[in-house]
Amino acid sequence: ADLYGIRDWGAGYFDVSDKGLLTVTPERAGNKVALPLLDIVQEIRERGMDMPVLVRFEDLLEQQIGRLNNAFRKAIADTGYQAPYRGVFPIKVNQQCHVVEEICNVGAQFGHGLEAGSKPELIIALAHLESPDAHIVCNGYKDQEFIDLGLHACKMGYSCFFVVETPTELPIIIERSRALNIKPLIGVRVKLASMVGGHWTATSGDRSIFGLSITQLVEVVDTLKAEGMLDCLQLLHYHLGSQIPNIRDIRTGVTEACQVYMNLVREGAAMGFLDLGGGLAVDYDGSNTNYIHSRNYTLEEYCADIIDVIMSTLNPEQIAHPTIITESGRALVAYSSVLLFNVLDVASFQVGQLPESIPREEHRLIHSLKEALETMSGKNMQECFNDALFYRDEVRELFKRGQIGLRSRSLGENLFLAVMQKVLTLTETSPKQFQEADKLREQLSDIYYCNFSLFQSLPDVWAIDQVFPIAPIHRLDECPTREAIIADITCDCDGKVDRFTNMHDTKTTIPLHTLKDGEEYYIGVFLVGAYQETLGDLHNLFGDTNVVSVRLNDDGSHEFADELEGDSIADVLSYVEYQPQQLRERFRKIAERSTREGRITASERQEIMKAFSESMLGYTYYEKV
Ligand code: PLP
Repeated sequence: ADLYGIRDWGAGYFDVSDKGLLTVTPERAGNKVALPLLDIVQEIRERGMDMPVLVRFEDLLEQQIGRLNNAFRKAIADTGYQAPYRGVFPIKVNQQCHVVEEICNVGAQFGHGLEAGSKPELIIALAHLESPDAHIVCNGYKDQEFIDLGLHACKMGYSCFFVVETPTELPIIIERSRALNIKPLIGVRVKLASMVGGHWTATSGDRSIFGLSITQLVEVVDTLKAEGMLDCLQLLHYHLGSQIPNIRDIRTGVTEACQVYMNLVREGAAMGFLDLGGGLAVDYDGSNTNYIHSRNYTLEEYCADIIDVIMSTLNPEQIAHPTIITESGRALVAYSSVLLFNVLDVASFQVGQLPESIPREEHRLIHSLKEALETMSGKNMQECFNDALFYRDEVRELFKRGQIGLRSRSLGENLFLAVMQKVLTLTETSPKQFQEADKLREQLSDIYYCNFSLFQSLPDVWAIDQVFPIAPIHRLDECPTREAIIADITCDCDGKVDRFTNMHDTKTTIPLHTLKDGEEYYIGVFLVGAYQETLGDLHNLFGDTNVVSVRLNDDGSHEFADELEGDSIADVLSYVEYQPQQLRERFRKIAERSTREGRITASERQEIMKAFSESMLGYTYYEKV
C-alpha cells in the first residue's frame, strides 16, 4: 500500500519499488529509469558527502519545461489559436545558476524566457538568453539604471519588456528612451478585482500592493497617447498570486484581463502580448482538489481554459489573439529537487519502569493515579482519563510548592503516561468514540530528530505553513509502527514539521519506522525546488546544504552532473562578518594563557588548536565521525 500517497503527489516521477524503495523516474532519449533514492544516497556517501543533501534531478526539470510548453502547444493546435505561447520563468523562484542555465538551455527550443524582478535578475537574464523569441519580462520597481540596461538590451535585439507597476515609473521610461533614442517595449501590470483563494489571496484585489488600478491604467494610456508612444504599449500583465488551487479563479482572472486587453486595443495601444503571471499550482498533497496545497485542474485543463476564455472574449470583437505569456515558476521547478536527511535520534513518550505496588507513604494522588490505571476499561475510559489529568496537574502543583519530591513527581508523571497509553490502546478496540483520541495520539507521538535545518531548507514550512510531501525513502514494504513529528537540529522550538500531507487535509503526525541498530534511516522531503533555496536563512548558523545534480545519460545510466559542497563553518561565520583567521588567533591566545596557567599542557594545546582549525573547515550539520 502507498501509505505516503507517493503515487498521488508523485506526478509519475516518484514511485515505490517492490523492494520497498522510493524511486524517482527521470526520462532521457526515450529511456525511463526508476532510480531508488537510497542508491543515490549511497553514491553521495561514497563521494564523502554527508547528509543533509539537496538532490536536483535535471531531467525532471527538463520534463516539466516540456510538459508545460507542449500542453500549451497542443491546446493552441487543437483550438486553432492564432498566436504562440511563450513562458517566462520567474528567476526569484529558484535563482541558482545551474537551474536557470538548465531552463534556458532546454527552454530555447520553446522560446521560454525569463522574468526579472530586480537588477541582479535582469543581469542573469541578459547573460543567459539569446533568441529574441525568448522574452524578458521586467517586473518590480525599476530605477534609471535598470531601465537603461533594459533599453540597451532592446537595441541589441532582446525582447525586453518593462512592465509598469507604479505610475512613477512611466516618466523615467519615457525620459530615458528619448535620451538614449531607443524605443521601449512597455507593459502594464493591472490590479484585477478578481480575488483568488489559497495562500496568496492578498496578491489579488484592490488592496494588492502591486500593479496599477484601472484609473491609473487610464492615466498611463493618456500619457503615452500624449507622448505619441501608444505603439510601445504592447503587453498586459497581471498576477493573482502563487498556487491558485481553483480553476474557476483562473478563469475569472483571465476573463477580466481579456476585457482590459480589449479596451487597451480599442484605445489604440499596439498590444500583442497577454501575460497571466504565475499561479499554476502544484498538487503537494495529491488530492487533486481545490484545497490550498493542491489544485482541482490538470495542466491540460489550465491551458485549454485560458485559451478558451481568450478566444471567446476576443473573437466576437475580431481582436487578434495575443501571444500568451505565463510566469510559471513553482510548477516548473518544484518537482526537480528533493531534500534528503538522516534521522539522528528519537524521543518517544513510552512508559518507564513502574513499581509493582505504590509504597504506602506515597502521596494519595499517586495512589489515585495507580488506581485510575488499574480500574480503567472501555466503559469508564473517559472518567479515568479526566481523573488522571486532574491528579497529574495536582501532582505538578504540589511539586511547585515543594510538598512532594522529584521521585514522587517522576512516578506520578510515569503513571499518568501509562494511563494515556492505555486510553489509546483501548480506543483502538472500543466501539465508542473517544473525542480526545486524535489530540492524545498527537501528544504522545514520537519526535524524530533529523539532520537538517527547517529555516535553511524548508523556510516556507515555518513562514507560511506550507506542506510538502515527506516520506522515508526505504523500508516502504514494512508497516511503520510509530507516529511521529519531525524536529530539525536548530535549537528553535519552531524547527519542527508537524503538518503532513494527507489528501485534501493535513495530519499532525507521520507514520515512521522504528530505528534499527547500526542502520541509517533516511527521509525525503519532496517537491522543494521552488522558493526554498534562497529564502532559507542561517538560523543557528546552519548553512547551505550539500547539493548534487543527477542526470541520466542517453544509455540510461546516470551521473552526478554537479556536486556543490555546502557551506563550511568558516563560510557561515564570514557571512555574519566574523573573520575565521581572527577567531583562530583569539582562541590561540586564550589557549596560550591556559597553558601558562597550567590548565593544559603545550601538547594538549596543539591538539586543541588542530581540532579548532579542522572544525572551521567542516560541514555545519551533524557529521558522522
Ligand atoms: N510572477 C510574479 C509577478 C510573481 O510575483 C510570482 C510569485 O508569486 C510568480 C510570477 C510565480 O508564481 P508561481 O510560482 O505560482 O508560478
